[in-house]
Amino acid sequence: DNASFDMTQHFIVIGNPIAHSKSPSIHHAFAQQAGLAIRYARQYCPDDAESFRAVVDAFFNGGGIGANVTVPFKQIAYEYCLEDGALSDHARVAGAVNTLAQRDGKLYGDNTDGQGLVNDMQHQGWILKDKTVAIIGAGGAARGTILPLIQAGIKSLTLANRTVSKAETLVKALGEQSATVAHCPIDTCATDALTGHFDIIINATSIGLSGERLPLSEHLTCAHAYDMMYGRELPFLTHFADSGAKTSDGYGMLIGQAALSFALWTGADIDVTAARAQLT
Ligand code: NDP
Repeated sequence: DNASFDMTQHFIVIGNPIAHSKSPSIHHAFAQQAGLAIRYARQYCPDDAESFRAVVDAFFNGGGIGANVTVPFKQIAYEYCLEDGALSDHARVAGAVNTLAQRDGKLYGDNTDGQGLVNDMQHQGWILKDKTVAIIGAGGAARGTILPLIQAGIKSLTLANRTVSKAETLVKALGEQSATVAHCPIDTCATDALTGHFDIIINATSIGLSGERLPLSEHLTCAHAYDMMYGRELPFLTHFADSGAKTSDGYGMLIGQAALSFALWTGADIDVTAARAQLT
């Protein structure tokens, strides 16, 4: 990785670290499907807001079309769009931006992560309308998922988190920000106090990265379990699969959020199932 900038790219993903990012191969597969010749590269950036803004400005001033934003810059990108550009509803409520474009000469920030998850569930035939949903986790990924889930028509949401106060603060803030969120009944609780049966339970914690297991109650069951993580063994999914739940890892969410970014930039409607088959 280095901070030098390649002016010939149409698309980039900005992150730190960035070497592991799958975004270039995903977007090149989309482009092949859509019959478009694109260049999409990983862009390293030093971990500060000033460097991030300089990279974004140089990219769009140099003719870049679109950028994805990943760890640790999603909130920095949100703040940049809030101050100097515009935001989609999803980005505004998520408080984070994963997709940048230019609209009317101004920076435009969207967040496609949560809708990517919703689309992935629906592609798998999981019905969201009138369903009871629990999310475990109250970080950036959970936050970005709440509005798309409510827009998909869920009946109720329970937000469980290790630090309950973070879940409570988040629900209050989102309710004040969005009338749509305010209209959905949302409960909060501690992760180990989450009990009962839900139609869908989503793991939006980063616990899997440390190899630890979530403290799940034996009185917690679900019909569908979704883990946002992918590419490793997922004890969260095994736990619910053992009692007959349908399960999914987060790889389809990754492809789904990318397909929505690609559509925003190019107008192309990607067949994510075909793209996924090509990538694996
Ligand atoms: P954050 O750091 O913002 O939030 C982490 C969350 O995990 C918090 O709720 C935190 O609880 C909880 N947590 C962390 N460690 C533990 C633990 N030991 N026990 C219990 N809870 C714990 O992370 P993000 O929200 O950005 O990301 C969450 C996950 O989602 C990551 O694994 C990420 O890889 C994945 N993700 C997947 C995407 C995809 O496309 N598939 C897209 C985006 C994210 P507390 O508040 O108590 O600290």
